[in-house]
Amino acid sequence: MAVLEHDEYGFAPGKAFDPVEQSASGTVEAFSPALQEHSLAAEMVEQAHAEESGPSIEDANVIVAGGRGLGEPEKFALVEELARALGGAVAATRAVVDAGWYPYSAQVGQTGKSVSPTLYIACGISGAIQHKVGMQSSKTIVAINKDANAPIFEFADLGVVGDLHTIVPKLTELIQARRG
Ligand SMILES: Cc1cc2nc3c(=O)[nH]c(=O)nc-3n(C[C@H](O)[C@H](O)[C@H](O)COP(=O)(O)OP(=O)(O)OC[C@H]3O[C@@H](n4cnc5c(N)ncnc54)[C@H](O)[C@@H]3O)c2cc1C
Repeated sequence: MAVLEHDEYGFAPGKAFDPVEQSASGTVEAFSPALQEHSLAAEMVEQAHAEESGPSIEDANVIVAGGRGLGEPEKFALVEELARALGGAVAATRAVVDAGWYPYSAQVGQTGKSVSPTLYIACGISGAIQHKVGMQSSKTIVAINKDANAPIFEFADLGVVGDLHTIVPKLTELIQARRG
């Protein structure tokens, strides 16, 4: 198996985990599927493509993630603006994906994607174990939460206790000003 080049932070190119070498062997068998009546019951009515700009959450070095603490779907704009200022990608918790605030493709966690960016900024995210398993290998985790007892502060490298609606726009403004 080829040896993977790691980046300056020691992360594998896939931004997740190094592949594990397996000793198992398998056989290839020809299979002819037979269509049943119920196999044809579904009909494709439309095909659409989501428009995306910037890096994907699998590739991004910086991820800004939003949770239920945003309060309403429109407030994802705050997270998107901060991500844009940092050249990063936007992620979400299952709570907001289930609520229809953000697409499933952005979900991080047990039933979403596993990510390992250099910087993960969690905005209004409690830090449930099912979310943690998908982002805990991030190099630096910053959490913004108004509840000082939120579980995310137990594993964040830097915690900011306060209202994200005040802190996130201010942070975006400062980064934009610094970047000119
Ligand atoms: C089988 C199973 C699989 C799951 N898979 C996943 C998964 O893949 N990914 C995932 O994320 N979850 C998953 N979950 C759900 C998980 O258990 C949590 O319910 C979810 O992660 C909580 O999302 P949240 O942090 O956005 O919301 P909440 O837990 O409601 O947290 C919101 C946080 O926002 C804070 N807040 C509120 N207002 C503000 C404000 N104005 N400023 C700052 N902070 C504020 C609150 O203090 C709170 O800590 C799964 C659950 C199960 C049972």
